[in-house]
Parts: sequence; structure tokens; C-alpha cells
Amino acid sequence: MSALYIHIPYCKQRCIYCDFYSNATRESKKEYLQCLIEEWEQRKYELNQPFQTIYIGGGTPSTLNEEELEFLFKNILKDKDLFTGNIEEIEITFEANPENLNRDYLKFLKDNTPINRLSIGIQSFDEDDLKLIGRRHSGKDAVKSVNLAQEIGFDNISIDLMFGLPNMTESSWQKNLYQAIMLNVQHISAYQLSVEDKTMLSTLLNKGKLSLPNEEQQIKQFKETINVLTENHFEHYEISNYALIELNSTNKTSESNKKSYRSKHNSSYWQNVPYLGIGASSHSYCITERRWNISDIKQYVHKIKTNQPYWEKETLSEKEHYNEYILVGVRTKEGFDLDYMQKTFSEPYIKHFLSKIDELQSEGLIEKQASTNNYALTLNGLFLSNQIALILIY
Ligand code: SF4
Repeated sequence: MSALYIHIPYCKQRCIYCDFYSNATRESKKEYLQCLIEEWEQRKYELNQPFQTIYIGGGTPSTLNEEELEFLFKNILKDKDLFTGNIEEIEITFEANPENLNRDYLKFLKDNTPINRLSIGIQSFDEDDLKLIGRRHSGKDAVKSVNLAQEIGFDNISIDLMFGLPNMTESSWQKNLYQAIMLNVQHISAYQLSVEDKTMLSTLLNKGKLSLPNEEQQIKQFKETINVLTENHFEHYEISNYALIELNSTNKTSESNKKSYRSKHNSSYWQNVPYLGIGASSHSYCITERRWNISDIKQYVHKIKTNQPYWEKETLSEKEHYNEYILVGVRTKEGFDLDYMQKTFSEPYIKHFLSKIDELQSEGLIEKQASTNNYALTLNGLFLSNQIALILIY
């Protein structure tokens, strides 16, 4: 099994915190899409394993118009044998911003594309927050886009929210969380704002024109997220991700009657599944090798057209593989699978891991999960996940 990521690097304007690769000009879009498909043709058999998910991310994929989306899907889905089972059964996620999701566009997505999961970038329902971070939609647009998508028939919707924003208080964040629950979505990603170099946000903070909630307030907002969402039937399965658990009404106690809305695509990243990323700045991974495409759209197009390499790659050593596994393990509910680790890593790594685990267990930061050989961070551990990763890496 493998996963396919398609990068659409266009945004109408840049949000102040964002360091993802995107471009506000759209002149080259047609050429870009043709090159993206050229890359797909060159690499579609590279992983030699069927794709079980497709994720179209950005940038802002919902800046693609109907013709561009038809072109994309017609070419990507041409060879059905590249995918597991029926196309209708694989998870196909499309990232969208609320301002693009009007009735006609949503209807087109539903009736004319195989997209079966929407990931809507809301970030906040609060008008002041949205203006401050440079989003183009209002809180009302956000609510309307989700309601419309549901009305049109999308039944697997994820929304992105952010805490730790400038001026955000515990109660304003709580309001966002309850607003999100009222929308009856199936998945919520709640990220802590991180300050990346060379963004407008870092400039404004350095100049003292903005300030963030302090560490204690940010931890309170994170705790509040976990409390509110888990009390409302969301499973906290990754540090920033919460999936609705639906119970079959006939037998509410049996595990087999639970339906989970975890993101299958993102779970692949966390389960060490190989993935192919196509488009400018996208990354690919196949256990022993990591490869990343050139970030600049013009360069990407030029190099594909002139048959020059448009990527760099590196072979992963055992140490890098182990450290990657640690960085993912500190974020996920399943944590570290000792059986898998013993099959995959040599003795010095296992010895190192076990020696540190004892210490972390006695401090109540990691616990062994019942009936498995997995170790995962406790709630207290999650608040210190970066520090724990530093202890466990080799
Ligand atoms: S819409 Fe998304 S990708 Fe584009 S600038 Fe804003 S955060 Fe970045």
C-alpha cells in the first residue's frame, strides 16, 4: 500500500504565519499542471505498490477551476490498476478554503470528481483572528462553506483550526471549539501556531507589533482542546488530530460497532507507509530513501520541460530511520511498537530506546499500552513531546 500527494502551490494571498511553498500569481498554472502530469507519468510505478489514498494539498487546491480539476483527475486516474480496489473506495481528500466553496463549485466537486473527503482551512471563526492572520474568509463564510458542503452530500469533512494565535484567550479558543462541534464535522485538526523564520508573523513578533499567548496559556488552550473534543466523541489519535467516533445505534458498547474518521492519508505518514509526492516542493518517501522536488514553480516547469533533474534525494541511514520513527511516535496515539522496532532496528538502538523508556515511564510521561507491545506518551508526556523526542533520538 502507498499514498499519493499532489501539490497545488497557488494561494490568492499569503497568510502571515505560512511558510508552505505557494505562489500568489497564477499565470503559469496551465503549464504547471501539464508538468505535474508529466511527473506523474514518469513516476507512477516508482513505489510499485498500489495507492490507497490521494491527497490534494497546497497552497490552495480550491483555486483550481472546473476545467483544471477535470484535467487533473482524467490523467491521474487513467490507470485504474495503480490504485487499490475501486476508485470510489479509496480516500481522496481535497484541501479547500471557505471563500472558494460556493454552491456551484461544491456541486461540481461532488458530481464531477471522485473527491470524497474535504479538508477545509478555517483556522478560526473569530473575525479579528482571521483579519490578523491574513485569511480571506470570514467566520460566517467558514460556517456557510461547511453547511453547504453537507447539504450537497459531503459526509467526510475535516476542518483546520489554530490555537496560540496572537491575542487569543482561553475563552475565545473555547468558543472556536464549540463552534466547530456544532458543525457536526467528522474530523478536526487543531494545530498550535508555530512561528517559522522569514514569515510576516516572525517579523511582526520581532518588531514587538504582535505578541503570542505565553507558554502556560498555550498549554491551557491545548488541554482545553483535548478535553472539549474528547468529551464530544472525538478520538485524539495524533497530537494535532481528532477523529469523530460514530457508534452504531444497535450496539453502542462493542468496538466493532465503532466507525472512525481518522485521516487514512495522514495516518500513512505516521505508519511509515511509502508515499509519492508530485508537484513543486512535494516530498516522497520509500523507507530507505527520501526525495524532494525543487520548490520554485518556474524552475520546476523549466526542468521538467528540458528533461533535467527537478529533485534532490538522500538515502536514509538506520540512525535517520530510527530518529524519524521517534519523531512520529511521540505524536501518535499508538506511539512506539516495540515488536516492529525489534524487527527493524539493530541492538544499539533498541538498548538506547529501552533505557530511556524506563526513566520516562517512572516519571509518568510514557506508558505501555494494554494488550500490545506499544509505548505511547501519556497526557502529561504530550505536553512535553519535543523534549521527550530529544531524549529518545539516537
Ligand atoms: S492558504 Fe494555506 S498555504 Fe496558502 S498562504 Fe495561507 S496557510 Fe499558506
